[in-house]
Amino acid sequence: MKLFDVYPLFPIEPVKATGSWLWDSEGKKYLDLYGGHAVISIGHNHPHFVDALKNQLDKISFYSNSVKNSMQEKLAEKLGQLSGYNNHQLFLCNSGAEANENALKLASFVTGRKKIIAFKKAFHGRTSGAVAATDNPKIVAPFNAGHEIIFLPLNDTAAFDQAIDNTIAAVIIEGIQGVGGIQVPSTAFFKHIAQKTKQAGALLILDEVQSGYGRSGKFFAHQRAGIEADLVTLAKGMGNGFPIGGVLIHPDIKPWSGMLGTTFGGNYLACAAGLAVLEVIEKENLMTNAATIGNYWMEQLNSYPSILEVRGQGLMIGFDLPESLAALRKDLLFKHHIFTGEAKPNTVRLLPSLAITKTEADLLLEALATELKQAVVL
Ligand code: PLP
Repeated sequence: MKLFDVYPLFPIEPVKATGSWLWDSEGKKYLDLYGGHAVISIGHNHPHFVDALKNQLDKISFYSNSVKNSMQEKLAEKLGQLSGYNNHQLFLCNSGAEANENALKLASFVTGRKKIIAFKKAFHGRTSGAVAATDNPKIVAPFNAGHEIIFLPLNDTAAFDQAIDNTIAAVIIEGIQGVGGIQVPSTAFFKHIAQKTKQAGALLILDEVQSGYGRSGKFFAHQRAGIEADLVTLAKGMGNGFPIGGVLIHPDIKPWSGMLGTTFGGNYLACAAGLAVLEVIEKENLMTNAATIGNYWMEQLNSYPSILEVRGQGLMIGFDLPESLAALRKDLLFKHHIFTGEAKPNTVRLLPSLAITKTEADLLLEALATELKQAVVL
């Protein structure tokens, strides 16, 4: 059977990884500044993470959500403690898209409304339709039965004020837009939409799938604005490579049996991975490291004249290049063995492990100095 060919692939096959480093099948070593789309939060194969998974495999790896699972409670406890959202409730699922589906559905259930405000360049996942095609009124929210999404420009309070009213079920916004090219909502915009959303009786959904889990230097990127969301969605860095997602749900939202559900969500292995990630983030002060290395990188990147703009917070950074330097990302990979990400048209995205060291961070700066100098001379 052939694979369904939807991914443009680099001709590199990683076969081993540790910390910020990968090795390919030919034994070549690469610095990973992308973490497979911001997934590697505590570093590849962190020993505490590996031990936690191995220990759990020795006990039990799976049973359904029809039995008590105290691993989920432990994970919820630790997540509440580290994130500051300890009064919210946790629903566990398997991916970012699933987390967002559940959040939108919850907002629709709570408000009885179907309309959603989202933002231009946003990315929230790739699912649709499964609930709408399910014949069970108890689990289909008005949103699932037909919805309207209004896309607004980010950081435009006037456009927001025109669109928000008491027909809106939810406003969904990323803590920092990732796929959209590292676009940062301003603190003033966050505060404004939090207040207006509440006044309209709508729910605020913060998609922290990419920007969360300490990446921005705060546990969630929106927390720098001092706001609280009704629903926060999680995935990616939550499991450091083990698939796990979640929704943090405001304490006023009351569950009913069967309201949300999933087969795999919250399984023992996922919880063991999730718990190990939080323990390492706490023990190794990774949020502080993300802020320190992130600030250092931003400062240094801003000093390269050929970089047009640098955006981001902590270790979620994007920098724009002129068209003449469009090949830089490939050069970083094939000449310097450094993995980075991209956003169209010419933004390089940096989403390394939160445990990256300054020495590792300097390797990027050295490679850029070589490449950008060459580009200027040419
Ligand atoms: N939300 C954001 C902000 C994302 O960046 C992504 C994936 O890139 C998703 C949701 C979807 O997550 P997943 O691919 O785990 O479904």
